[in-house]
Amino acid sequence: MQSDNSTPRPIPHAERLDQGALGREARLLRSMFEQYCRKHHGSDSLCAECQKLLRYALTRLACCPFGNQKPTCFKCKVHCYRGEEKDKVRAVMRETGPKMLWIHPLLTVEHLLKNLKEAPDWPRNPNAKKQQKNKEAALASQSKYRD
Ligand SMILES: [Zn+2]
Repeated sequence: MQSDNSTPRPIPHAERLDQGALGREARLLRSMFEQYCRKHHGSDSLCAECQKLLRYALTRLACCPFGNQKPTCFKCKVHCYRGEEKDKVRAVMRETGPKMLWIHPLLTVEHLLKNLKEAPDWPRNPNAKKQQKNKEAALASQSKYRD
């Protein structure tokens, strides 16, 4: 099967990034990447590498199980980024974050306020807790038989 890199797959649930809290996070994220790419890669529009990384970050954002209740990534207890991407995106955020206060003051203040809040423990799947309990119970009964 041939894969065509010039036409990337659409971001799943991209419509979630059009509005609400996720939409504002997406705007902030895109702006951070633009700052970063201009400085490090001299590109006015995003270079291919930054585009790819931004796509990855936006995909994680759109698929965030918290939806518009999403805590900031900094506070989040769900680790949804892969190792390499996590390091790269973190570098972009760390470097450009402070500048965002001047470029998007309202978006940044909202983000900073959210950063003060504790992240919720687990997203919307109500069965997750039950499944975890069942798993623990099964493990406990297993070890009973082993002893
Ligand atoms: Zn770049």
